[in-house]
Amino acid sequence: MSTPRRVVAGNWKMNHGPDATRSFFEALGSVPDGPRVAIFPPAICLPAAVGAPGRDARIELGVQNVHAAESGAYTGETSVAMAAEAGAGLVLVGHSERRHVFGETDADVAAKVARVLQHGLEPVICVGETLDQRKAGQLEAVLDRQIRAALASLPAGARYMVAYEPVWAIGTGETATPDDAAEAHGLLRARLREVHGGDSDAVPILYGGSVKPGNAADLMDALGVDGVLVGGASLKAEDFAGIIAAA
Ligand code: PEP
Repeated sequence: MSTPRRVVAGNWKMNHGPDATRSFFEALGSVPDGPRVAIFPPAICLPAAVGAPGRDARIELGVQNVHAAESGAYTGETSVAMAAEAGAGLVLVGHSERRHVFGETDADVAAKVARVLQHGLEPVICVGETLDQRKAGQLEAVLDRQIRAALASLPAGARYMVAYEPVWAIGTGETATPDDAAEAHGLLRARLREVHGGDSDAVPILYGGSVKPGNAADLMDALGVDGVLVGGASLKAEDFAGIIAAA
C-alpha cells in the first residue's frame, strides 16, 4: 500500500486582496522539503500569488470554487479553463460553505469534479457532516452519500484529494479529536478502496476544521490523516509556517 505524501493546504476564503497576497508569500518565504504545500487565495488574487516576490515555486496554487460549465452566460463565475490559465493546479470542490451557504448539491459537486479533471487539474473534494447529522448518528451515511456522488465522476487512477471537514469544526474553534478524525478518515478510505481498489491508496485524505499550529501535529498523527486543510490559521504566514513545520 502506498502512503500519500503529507499535504498542508490553506483556504483563505474571502480574505486577502492582491497586496496582502504578495505580503503573505514574502513573509512565508521558502517551505521545507517534505510536505506538499498549497494555498487557495481568492481567484482574483491568483495572478498576485503567481508573481509574488519571494514565493517558493513549490507552493502549489488553487481556486476555492469553479463553475461546472465550460464557459457562457454565468455572471460572476470562474471557469476551470480560466483558473488553469491564471495558474491554478488545484480546485476546492464542495467546501462546506459552498454546500451550506450557497446551496451546492452532491450533483453540482460531481459535475464540477468532472470538469476539473477534464482540464487536468486536481480536485480537492470536501465532505463532512453537520452537528445535527453527527448527533443523529448519521456520520457514516452522510460521508458515504457525499463521497460516492463525487467519485461517480472520477475514473480509477485520477489524481485527486479528499478533505474531511466536519461542518461543526469549521471556523468555530471546535476541533475534532484525533479519534474523531481517524474514524471518519477510516470510513472514507474504505469507500475509496471499494470504488477504486488499491489505486486509491495514493489519494491523500486531509482533515480540516480549526487546525492551528498547536493542534496540527496531533491531528496529523491520527490514523489515516494525510494532511490538513486550514482556513483561519492559513491567513498569517507565521501560523501557517508553524503548521507546515508540524507536518
Ligand atoms: C476551511 O475553510 O476549510 C477550514 C477548515 O476553516 P478553519 O480552519 O478556519 O476552521
